[in-house]
Amino acid sequence: MAIGANRDSGTVNIGVLGGGQLARMLALAGIPLGCRFHFLDPAPGACAAPLGEMHSAEFTDIDAVRNLAREVDIATFDFENVPAVSARAMSELRTLRPGVEALEACQDRLNEKRLVEQLGIAVPAHRSVDSRAELLEAVEDIGLPAVLKTRRLGYDGKGQAVLTTMEDLEHAWQRLAGVPLILEAFVPFAAECSVQAVRGVDGEVRFWPLIHNVHADGMLVLSRPGVFGSGLQQQAEGIARKLLDHWNYVGVLTVEFFLHNGSLLVNEIAPRVHNSGHWSIDGAATSQFENHVRAICALPLGETTLCSPSLMFNWIGTLPDRDRVMALPEAHWHDYGKAARPGRKVGHATLTARTQSQLDEHATRLADLLGGNWPRLLAGMRSCSLS
Ligand code: AMP
Repeated sequence: MAIGANRDSGTVNIGVLGGGQLARMLALAGIPLGCRFHFLDPAPGACAAPLGEMHSAEFTDIDAVRNLAREVDIATFDFENVPAVSARAMSELRTLRPGVEALEACQDRLNEKRLVEQLGIAVPAHRSVDSRAELLEAVEDIGLPAVLKTRRLGYDGKGQAVLTTMEDLEHAWQRLAGVPLILEAFVPFAAECSVQAVRGVDGEVRFWPLIHNVHADGMLVLSRPGVFGSGLQQQAEGIARKLLDHWNYVGVLTVEFFLHNGSLLVNEIAPRVHNSGHWSIDGAATSQFENHVRAICALPLGETTLCSPSLMFNWIGTLPDRDRVMALPEAHWHDYGKAARPGRKVGHATLTARTQSQLDEHATRLADLLGGNWPRLLAGMRSCSLS
């Protein structure tokens, strides 16, 4: 029976740890299914606030977490850095989906890579770095170029530095030392991609098409699904399935990869809905957000098929001219209601079309209209080798 279905009203109250744009889009998908949303977030003006009841408190405030738990039927989170103690406090009172084990595993880049390797899945060469001597040893082992990253709390390229020369090493050490670090081999990838899967309470799994992603300065700027062959799709699905089964996972899982020499190496795992899957709102039979809500509420999962060729443009820092973008055919506009700020994700647009060539044509028009780096980024995306 679906969660909350025994209540007279049939309404399911969902508690979300986090009130950012992912929580907002979960609510936009879940409200039509009869769900009510309650968000915990320290920012009173969190962008999910207009869509539900806001609990303004720090994520470490266990009393606030417990109060939220008492108001809801089921809980989830919209970012992976929810303090584990808070996630555990929630899970003691209400079912948390996905569970604490998956959440914790994805909070530390070293532990995440160790688990992935234990499951027989390939990751870039890496070493744990806790001292300057260990950094020198790791560089000796792995070679340069390499990427030095904080093990915890890094995202969107933050808390990391590419090391090409020994001089870079000194600068990076001065900037990042003081917390546990990891050194990774720099992967000269042909392309970056991600796979999204949803697993229901009964263990049923569905996959969306593998997504090709382009990053600039460590942040996602372009995503397009359905451009890889069936071999890579199967490889990606096999990897995601191992993780889902390992955790007895419920909800949407995202695995990010580097495509290198025809194989996939896992870069990062997000135990949640993800920026690279935003195209699915407009381009898939069921969006990542709706299927996450369906899964955690024990509702039947929706089809994950691609309905139209799609391409997502991410708006970082500020929104472009909405009316000009929306004047393009099949341009779907998503404004997160956030104040403009450099490096902040404030919205996205997805272009859909009946054919790939039509999509290409509209994408070129949009990139030209936006100007700046966009024509170059689009050209770079098109020149990637995808096999
Ligand atoms: P991350 O936060 O680890 O996903 O890194 C953000 C972006 O930096 C990735 O999407 C890649 O574009 C780049 N990057 C991170 N790690 C590596 C690596 N080991 N080799 C090459 N590029 C990397």
